[in-house]
Amino acid sequence: MGGGTFGGIETGGTKTVCAVGSGPDDVRAGACFPTTTADETLARAAAFFREHRPAAVGVASFGPLDLDPASPTFGSITATPKPGWSGADVVGALRRALVVPVAIDTDVNGAALAEWRWGAGTQCDPLVYVTVGTGIGGGAVVGGRPLHGLAHPEMGHMRVPRAPGDDFAGWCPFHADCLEGLASGPAIQARRGLPPEALAVDDPVWTLVARYLALGLANVVTVLSPQRIVVGGGVLRHPTLLGRVRAEVRAILAGYVRVAALAGAIEEFIVAPALGERAGVLGALALAAQGGPERD
Ligand code: ZN
Repeated sequence: MGGGTFGGIETGGTKTVCAVGSGPDDVRAGACFPTTTADETLARAAAFFREHRPAAVGVASFGPLDLDPASPTFGSITATPKPGWSGADVVGALRRALVVPVAIDTDVNGAALAEWRWGAGTQCDPLVYVTVGTGIGGGAVVGGRPLHGLAHPEMGHMRVPRAPGDDFAGWCPFHADCLEGLASGPAIQARRGLPPEALAVDDPVWTLVARYLALGLANVVTVLSPQRIVVGGGVLRHPTLLGRVRAEVRAILAGYVRVAALAGAIEEFIVAPALGERAGVLGALALAAQGGPERD
């Protein structure tokens, strides 16, 4: 990655953030506007970038995305309930408007790349980034690149064993009681009738949430063997949740994964993000600098 000028777009559920620059210490211009339809949102982003003429553009997008370069719909949003976005050709629209290379990945893979490049996960490969908010998402950097294959990781939809006595049906429309269905912000709200930030810090639901998040992270440890896991998102604003998750992960693995990171300073293995809410758009800049797969 050189010191060129790149453009980054983070398309989120409610807002879209654009930046021009080369990294966290070099953001030369930015814009933020509501995410409306795909046509309108991408046209607005393209108009912003036309003023700044980046050499390449990266997109860190909500999913699901088609990231198969051999697919005729590579770079598009696939089926989404979001109005005006199903089938939207994000890469094609930006490439036609700006005539520069356009790289795309999921918002969480973008955030993982940014935290690996500049944030809480430098020198850690594989690095996993998990966010727990309105959904649960996970991205990974493996060998210096965001991980995808069949599609892209969907860590929030892994299955975890039920805690004894937990009879909550689950909130995920596809799987009911997957990890996201049990422990995301809306799942917590459905359990307690209040949003997570309105609950007491010692509400019993946090014990369940810590347990489920830890089961998810322990599964990630056993599958990907990451050198570090960065955990962010609105639900983690709870002051002691991350600490409880760390202790539960250690207990769940029960000494089987014998590495110092888990036996000793687990607070250096499961960490908070360093880039905060900028991780997504910085990840988009990193994607632009790295270059993504091109449509065949
Ligand atoms: Zn699910």
